[in-house]
This record gives sequence, structure tokens and C-alpha cells, in this order.
Amino acid sequence: MKRLITLSTLMALIVLLVSSTGVTQAATPTFTTLQPGQFREINQNLQVNIVLVGYHQGTGPRDINEAAFRAGLPHRYRTLDVGPSSYIPGNNESDAVWIGNSFNYNYNIVYANQAFEDAYFNFVPTISIPCGVTVYQQYYNTQHSRSLDVTDNICIEANVAEYWLAENAPSMLGVDTSKDTVFLINWYGRPDFRFHTYLPFGYPDSDPDTGFTAAYYQNSEGISWGGTTPDDEQNGFGSLKRVWFHDLSAGPEWNTVNYLLDTAEFGGLRLYILPPVWEYGNMSAYRPFDDLSGDLAKITRYVALDCLFTKSPISPPALSPPKMPNSIQFDINLYQADKNWNLHDYIKPDRLVSEHAKLRPYNTQSVSLTDLRFDNRQAQIYDCGRSQFIRLLADPSYPLTSCYGNRGDENDLLLTDFFLYHRDHLNQFIEGDADLEVPIFAYGVPDNLGLPLLGIQDDNHYDGTRSSFIYYWLTNSERQFEHGMTQGLIHEAGHFMGMSHTHDGFDYEDLSYLGGFDDPYFFMWTGDESDSVMSYMFLSNNFSQFDRDNMNRYMTAIYINQANKILPTIMSSPRATEITSQLFSADSDAAAALTSYANMEYLNAAVSAKSAYDKVLAAATRINVHIEPEAWPADYRRHVPNPALIDPPKGQQRPNLPLANDQYLRPIR
Ligand SMILES: [Zn+2]
Repeated sequence: MKRLITLSTLMALIVLLVSSTGVTQAATPTFTTLQPGQFREINQNLQVNIVLVGYHQGTGPRDINEAAFRAGLPHRYRTLDVGPSSYIPGNNESDAVWIGNSFNYNYNIVYANQAFEDAYFNFVPTISIPCGVTVYQQYYNTQHSRSLDVTDNICIEANVAEYWLAENAPSMLGVDTSKDTVFLINWYGRPDFRFHTYLPFGYPDSDPDTGFTAAYYQNSEGISWGGTTPDDEQNGFGSLKRVWFHDLSAGPEWNTVNYLLDTAEFGGLRLYILPPVWEYGNMSAYRPFDDLSGDLAKITRYVALDCLFTKSPISPPALSPPKMPNSIQFDINLYQADKNWNLHDYIKPDRLVSEHAKLRPYNTQSVSLTDLRFDNRQAQIYDCGRSQFIRLLADPSYPLTSCYGNRGDENDLLLTDFFLYHRDHLNQFIEGDADLEVPIFAYGVPDNLGLPLLGIQDDNHYDGTRSSFIYYWLTNSERQFEHGMTQGLIHEAGHFMGMSHTHDGFDYEDLSYLGGFDDPYFFMWTGDESDSVMSYMFLSNNFSQFDRDNMNRYMTAIYINQANKILPTIMSSPRATEITSQLFSADSDAAAALTSYANMEYLNAAVSAKSAYDKVLAAATRINVHIEPEAWPADYRRHVPNPALIDPPKGQQRPNLPLANDQYLRPIR
């Protein structure tokens, strides 16, 4: 017995000596998947189905030149952590911050056969209603360079059209629509062609607070749709599909202003517009319409791929690494400046929670509502922040100065006074009853105190590694005639979790963040015609199937990489041998995550990756290695955030027709 004790003491001494020299190999378990201290990028060979319906190969202006089409498609994608990368000067791939997902795209290009085309174009009139030539089609009819007149119009139910394509392409074309599938559709040229638009009028998702339904308005008559989830309350498919369609023989429409042909210049903007398909071959419009194949490749690349199927997060989805939250609380603070009505009537906390629970089912979401006093001091801060922001919108180089306190070098922040006041008083708003609280400040104001935006999700003004606050402004008119706050807060909180708009996104091969706000990419607004609350079309309160896929893929990579980051610290602990079995178990979960991911079972992948991460975290706790959530940095600097985080009201960014509002918002029936 004495000898044994001596031997074990000696062994402990050896372990100590080894540890003290920093050589820990002897205690390092060999993992299959986890890579202590290293960054893993999960690469996926992603099949993307491109189904051409009514387009055929040939040399005519409305035919497909497949070589030209393929030349416009990207080969590869990497998901960028856009927030922190935007603080790093230059546009250098090696300096940027990457999430850990990459894709090699494999395109399965399928030309629909006659039977499929006949069936689809015979079906869509049966799911349509006559809805009249829209004011946008009428405006198109005034363009001197047009090829024809739009003489009538039917509205096709967009959800049912999506469902038909998703259901019939597998049996009729051999296309697996549970994989990312874009349908590029052209009805024009067939004897049964009808002028048409798509509208989700059959399953409208109305504003949760006011009942307002955008689906009955001409602005919502579009040319594309998709992204419906299996379990959507309005129109769920019942099974998993990943479908988005784009029909250039529909419209023309409000959303991408493709009713304009003679000019595409507005107040200094020169927009890139994809006209209705019948204009291809027209060389006398604002630009020659002579590259249909190139334009359809742009739709596939910049919209279907960059904005929908495989996109990058606008804010870091990790939220607070290295210790990331289980419980998330939306901490809504209400300032009632207009005493004639009550903000509580325009927020449905349960809906905010239930939609976000479907985006991140591996977190638990809750909400708290707190009334704050809007006193003279608040009014002063509000007035400062509001007037400064209005001037910034007019002139992006306008130096923002704080009139709250004596702020010196903390000037020049977006929404200076809103940010500084709430940061300084953060402890009054944060309650400490969740792992992570999302501070939301909502103002109920009379019309004369409104801001020229609905809401914004701001970052930390330090390095973009996390979000800071959400602000929301509801005016008296808005709450009376259209919107409450619920839909807008689901959207802004979506930004906080990482989601970007369906009309903007990072393009990897261009190494640029692009979107409908950039004139040459104006056509990207068509991504908003999808069943996502991250759209500006006000047609959905939920996250789309693509939103879910993207979030689940981000989180799979993030959980594995945060585990990788923590591992060297705990493995260099003298007590590391106590947790070897937990680490092996974590490694096994990480391996399961990658298997699910490869099978496109992205939710399972994220759940397994979180389990791996949680086990690594628990192992750290067990041997007293402390892992902390990221704290808010103390210093701030000038940073004009991506305009994608500022949410202007509907129509704000579109060229306006010389029509009265009530005219272009005329209900379709
Ligand atoms: Zn937004």
C-alpha cells in the first residue's frame, strides 16, 4: 500500500511538472471533430436546383444562353460575420470575421417539360381573382419605349402557386424541392398567357395588433414568392420545402419599380431594373434589354442565394461569446409620450416570443414589459436624438453631437442621445432574470414627434461584436391606420439575433454587402417577396424556412467553434483529467452535428452542436475554469452602421409615382 501511494504521488508530481512547462499533450484527448484552439469552417457541397419554366434554350432575346447563365452564377460562399467585419478597414478576406459556414454550389439546371408547363399555366388561373390593372401597370402603359399595353390583370394566390411548384416538381421533373430550389418562370409567349401578379391574398398574415392586412393592396402585388415553412399558422406546407419562385412575365410591380422603362433615374439614383420579360429585345428603353440570361443569373445569385438560401448574418448570432445564453428575454421598455392612447394595446408579447422560439428553438425566450416615465428630461433627450438623426439622414457626414451631458469624444454616434442615455442607465433597465436581455425602447409619440423610420437595431459602437439596443417609434397615425409594434419588433429582434433583410446580403465572390439600397442592385428588392418578417412588404410575421436554415447553420458553426475556443483553457488546467469523459461525449455530439448538417437537417445539427458546447462549458465549471459572457466594452467610436439596420417606413426608399397615397394603396377588392 505504501508503495502504491508513493507511485501515485510520483505520477501526480510528473503531471504537475508537465503542466508547469505548458506541455499538455499527455493529457490531450484525441477528438474526432472538436479542434481545440482552431477554427472550423463547415463546408457543404450544396445542390441548388434551378428550374426554368417557360424559358427554353436558344438564341432569341427571351431564350436562355446557358453558358452565359452559368457564367453569372457563383461557385462558392462563406458566411461573413458582417457586424464585426464592418469595423475592420479595407475589404480583405483574410482580415474579415467569418462565421464558419461555407458552400460549394452545385447547380442542377432543369428545363421544365411541356406537361409541367401546361399543368402550371392551366392551374394558376384557377387560383386567381380578377383584380384590375394596377396603377403601376397603368404607369407602365405611359412609357414611350414600351412594347405593349397591359390591358387586364389577374392576381394569383402566391402561397398556392408556391405549394403547387413544390409539390409537383418532384414527381413531374424529378426535382427534390426539399433542397434549395429556385423556379424561374415565364408565361409570356404561350397562347394562354394572361397578365398577372402574385399576391398572398388567400392566407393573409395580418398585423397582430391592428388586423391590417397588406395582402389586399396593390403595392403587395408582386412577381415572386417562397420560403413558406411546414408549420406556418396561415399556410404551412406540412412538409419541408425550400422553394422560391420568380416570374418575370408577372407585373410590372411596385416593389422593384419595373414599370419604368424610359428612365431609371430618380433624384440622383440610377436604378438597375429588370423589366417584364416581354421587353427583352427592346433596345430603345433606358438601357438595352439584351441579356435575359445574365439578368436571371443575377436574380439567382444576388437574391435567391445571397438574400434567401445561403446568407450572412448582419449582427453576430453568437450574442455573448464565449459564454452564450440559454435564456433570452426581450426587455421591452415603453415611453408613452402621447397620452391619448396606450402602447400596451399595440404589442403582443406572446407573438414576439412564439415567432422567435421557432427561429432559435434551442434557446428559451421570454418577455418583460416595463413602463418608463416620459418626463421633461426624457423629452429633452428625445428631442436631441430625434433632431440629430433627421439631420444625419439628410447628410451622412453630418457630425452628431450630444446635447445630453458633456460628452466630448463620445459624440458622433448614431442616435447619440438615445444611445448614451440608455447605456449610462443600463442597470435600471436590465433585470438580470435571463442569461441575455435584449433591451428594447419603444416610444409612443404624436405624429409631430415621429422619426422618419420605424425602428432600428443598433450595435455596440465599439467593434460590432454584439448588438446594443432596439429602438422603435410608433406614431399616432401609424397605430390608427396600419401597424402596431409587434411585427416591427419581431423584425428588429430578428436583426438582434443576426438576421438580415430579404433584400440585402453579403456576396462572397464580390466581397461586398449589397442590397436594394444600392442603385445597381435595386432588383434585389424582389427578395422581399417571400414569407419572412425580415421583408419590407409587411406580408409576414414569421421567419421563413430560409431564415431558419441560415440561423441553424450559423449556430452549428458557432457552438462548435466556441467549444474549440474554450477547450485549450480547460485542457491546460491541472484538473483536466477529471473531465476527459465529458469532453469525449462533447466530441461525439459535435460529430453528430456535422452528420446532421451534411444531411441538411440543420435544426438537429444546431441542437447537437449546442449539446457539445454545453458539455464543454459544464466541464469547465466542474474544474473551476471560469467562462464569462462578453461584457460591453467601455469605449466607443464613430461608426455609421450598415443602412440595412435602419428600417425606414414602407415606400420610403422607392421612387414615388406622382399619385396620391390613397390611390396606390387602393385595395384590390
Ligand atoms: Zn430591418
